[in-house]
Amino acid sequence: MERTLSIIKPDGVAKNVIGEVIKRFETAGIKIAAMKMIQLTKVQAQGFYAVHKERPFFGSLTDFMTSGPIVVMVLEGEDVIAKNRKLMGATNFEEAEEGTIRKDYATDIEKNVVHGSDAPETAAFEIGYFFNDLEIQKR
Ligand code: ATP
Ligand code: MG
Repeated sequence: MERTLSIIKPDGVAKNVIGEVIKRFETAGIKIAAMKMIQLTKVQAQGFYAVHKERPFFGSLTDFMTSGPIVVMVLEGEDVIAKNRKLMGATNFEEAEEGTIRKDYATDIEKNVVHGSDAPETAAFEIGYFFNDLEIQKR
Protein backbone atom coordinates (compact mmCIF):
# COMPACT_ATOMS: atom_id res chain seq x y z
CA MET A 1 0.00 0.00 0.00
CA GLU A 2 1.32 3.42 -0.98
CA ARG A 3 0.37 7.01 -0.05
CA THR A 4 0.54 10.26 -1.97
CA LEU A 5 -0.40 13.89 -1.40
CA SER A 6 -3.04 15.44 -3.62
CA ILE A 7 -3.98 19.12 -3.68
CA ILE A 8 -6.95 20.66 -5.45
CA LYS A 9 -5.36 24.04 -6.23
CA PRO A 10 -7.13 27.43 -5.85
CA ASP A 11 -8.32 27.38 -9.48
CA GLY A 12 -9.90 23.93 -9.01
CA VAL A 13 -11.75 25.06 -5.88
CA ALA A 14 -12.89 28.26 -7.66
CA LYS A 15 -14.15 26.24 -10.66
CA ASN A 16 -16.33 24.07 -8.38
CA VAL A 17 -14.65 20.82 -9.36
CA ILE A 18 -13.76 19.51 -5.88
CA GLY A 19 -16.45 16.83 -6.18
CA GLU A 20 -15.49 15.93 -9.74
CA VAL A 21 -11.82 15.43 -8.79
CA ILE A 22 -12.69 13.34 -5.74
CA LYS A 23 -15.16 11.27 -7.80
CA ARG A 24 -12.34 10.38 -10.22
CA PHE A 25 -10.14 9.20 -7.34
CA GLU A 26 -12.93 7.11 -5.82
CA THR A 27 -13.94 5.65 -9.19
CA ALA A 28 -10.32 4.56 -9.67
CA GLY A 29 -10.46 2.67 -6.35
CA ILE A 30 -8.24 5.16 -4.53
CA LYS A 31 -9.00 5.68 -0.82
CA ILE A 32 -8.90 9.08 0.91
CA ALA A 33 -7.00 8.71 4.20
CA ALA A 34 -7.03 12.41 5.21
CA MET A 35 -8.57 15.62 3.90
CA LYS A 36 -8.85 19.32 4.80
CA MET A 37 -9.47 22.74 3.23
CA ILE A 38 -6.97 25.49 4.07
CA GLN A 39 -5.55 28.70 2.61
CA LEU A 40 -1.75 28.82 2.48
CA THR A 41 0.34 31.81 3.51
CA LYS A 42 3.14 32.88 1.15
CA VAL A 43 5.76 31.39 3.49
CA GLN A 44 3.87 28.08 3.67
CA ALA A 45 3.59 27.93 -0.15
CA GLN A 46 7.32 28.70 -0.52
CA GLY A 47 8.13 25.89 1.90
CA PHE A 48 5.94 23.41 0.07
CA TYR A 49 7.43 24.26 -3.35
CA ALA A 50 11.01 24.73 -2.06
CA VAL A 51 12.32 22.32 -4.75
CA HIS A 52 11.27 24.91 -7.35
CA LYS A 53 12.78 27.96 -5.62
CA GLU A 54 15.32 28.61 -8.40
CA ARG A 55 12.72 28.32 -11.18
CA PRO A 56 11.54 31.49 -12.95
CA PHE A 57 7.90 30.73 -12.11
CA PHE A 58 8.47 30.31 -8.33
CA GLY A 59 7.12 33.75 -7.35
CA SER A 60 4.07 33.47 -9.56
CA LEU A 61 3.39 29.86 -8.50
CA THR A 62 3.54 30.67 -4.77
CA ASP A 63 1.30 33.74 -5.28
CA PHE A 64 -1.21 31.59 -7.16
CA MET A 65 -1.13 28.85 -4.50
CA THR A 66 -2.01 31.43 -1.81
CA SER A 67 -4.74 33.12 -3.87
CA GLY A 68 -7.60 31.08 -2.40
CA PRO A 69 -8.47 27.96 -0.45
CA ILE A 70 -7.08 24.56 -1.45
CA VAL A 71 -8.19 21.02 -0.61
CA VAL A 72 -5.34 18.83 0.63
CA MET A 73 -5.72 15.04 0.72
CA VAL A 74 -3.71 11.95 1.53
CA LEU A 75 -4.57 9.29 -1.05
CA GLU A 76 -3.93 5.64 -0.41
CA GLY A 77 -3.78 2.55 -2.62
CA GLU A 78 -1.59 0.23 -4.61
CA ASP A 79 0.73 2.23 -6.89
CA VAL A 80 -1.25 5.38 -5.99
CA ILE A 81 1.56 7.84 -6.80
CA ALA A 82 1.63 6.79 -10.45
CA LYS A 83 -2.15 6.23 -10.62
CA ASN A 84 -2.81 9.76 -9.37
CA ARG A 85 -0.29 11.28 -11.82
CA LYS A 86 -2.05 9.40 -14.63
CA LEU A 87 -5.48 10.71 -13.58
CA MET A 88 -4.02 14.26 -13.35
CA GLY A 89 -2.40 14.35 -16.81
CA ALA A 90 0.66 16.32 -17.96
CA THR A 91 1.70 19.56 -16.20
CA ASN A 92 0.85 21.49 -19.37
CA PHE A 93 -2.84 20.79 -20.03
CA GLU A 94 -2.27 21.21 -23.77
CA GLU A 95 -0.09 18.09 -23.65
CA ALA A 96 -2.33 16.16 -21.24
CA GLU A 97 -4.13 13.01 -22.40
CA GLU A 98 -7.86 13.09 -23.13
CA GLY A 99 -9.99 12.36 -20.11
CA THR A 100 -7.41 13.55 -17.55
CA ILE A 101 -8.25 16.12 -14.88
CA ARG A 102 -5.90 18.74 -16.33
CA LYS A 103 -7.08 18.18 -19.92
CA ASP A 104 -10.67 18.66 -18.80
CA TYR A 105 -10.28 21.57 -16.34
CA ALA A 106 -6.87 23.32 -16.53
CA THR A 107 -6.66 26.72 -18.20
CA ASP A 108 -2.91 27.34 -18.25
CA ILE A 109 0.36 25.68 -17.31
CA GLU A 110 0.31 27.23 -13.83
CA LYS A 111 -3.41 27.02 -13.07
CA ASN A 112 -3.61 23.29 -13.59
CA VAL A 113 -6.22 22.30 -10.96
CA VAL A 114 -4.32 19.58 -9.09
CA HIS A 115 -1.00 18.72 -7.53
CA GLY A 116 0.26 15.18 -6.95
CA SER A 117 3.49 13.95 -5.39
CA ASP A 118 5.88 12.54 -7.99
CA ALA A 119 7.86 9.94 -5.97
CA PRO A 120 7.82 8.11 -2.60
CA GLU A 121 10.34 10.58 -1.09
CA THR A 122 8.39 13.68 -2.15
CA ALA A 123 5.13 12.04 -1.02
CA ALA A 124 6.56 11.46 2.47
CA PHE A 125 7.77 15.07 2.73
CA GLU A 126 4.55 16.53 1.34
CA ILE A 127 2.21 14.41 3.51
CA GLY A 128 4.22 15.40 6.59
CA TYR A 129 4.05 19.06 5.55
CA PHE A 130 0.26 19.07 5.93
CA PHE A 131 -0.76 16.21 8.21
CA ASN A 132 0.45 14.65 11.42
CA ASP A 133 0.16 10.93 12.02
CA LEU A 134 -3.03 11.24 14.12
CA GLU A 135 -4.84 12.94 11.21
CA ILE A 136 -4.28 10.05 8.79
CA GLN A 137 -6.74 7.14 8.91
CA LYS A 138 -5.30 3.67 9.38
CA ARG A 139 -6.95 0.67 7.77
P1 ATP B 1 2.65 19.50 -9.35
O1 ATP B 1 4.01 19.47 -8.68
O2 ATP B 1 1.85 20.75 -9.01
O3 ATP B 1 1.88 18.24 -9.16
P2 ATP B 1 3.91 18.83 -11.80
O4 ATP B 1 4.69 17.86 -10.99
O5 ATP B 1 3.15 18.31 -12.99
O6 ATP B 1 2.86 19.59 -10.91
P3 ATP B 1 6.14 20.63 -11.60
O7 ATP B 1 7.20 20.64 -12.64
O8 ATP B 1 6.42 19.99 -10.28
O9 ATP B 1 4.83 20.00 -12.28
O10 ATP B 1 5.70 22.12 -11.38
C1 ATP B 1 4.95 22.50 -10.24
C2 ATP B 1 3.87 23.46 -10.65
O11 ATP B 1 4.49 24.67 -11.06
C3 ATP B 1 3.03 23.03 -11.85
O12 ATP B 1 1.99 22.17 -11.52
C4 ATP B 1 2.51 24.36 -12.33
O13 ATP B 1 1.44 24.83 -11.49
C5 ATP B 1 3.72 25.25 -12.10
N1 ATP B 1 4.56 25.30 -13.31
C6 ATP B 1 5.35 24.32 -13.80
N2 ATP B 1 5.99 24.70 -14.91
C7 ATP B 1 5.60 25.98 -15.12
C8 ATP B 1 5.90 26.96 -16.12
N3 ATP B 1 6.76 26.70 -17.11
N4 ATP B 1 5.31 28.17 -16.00
C9 ATP B 1 4.46 28.45 -14.99
N5 ATP B 1 4.13 27.57 -14.02
C10 ATP B 1 4.69 26.36 -14.09
MG1 MG C 1 5.71 18.41 -9.19
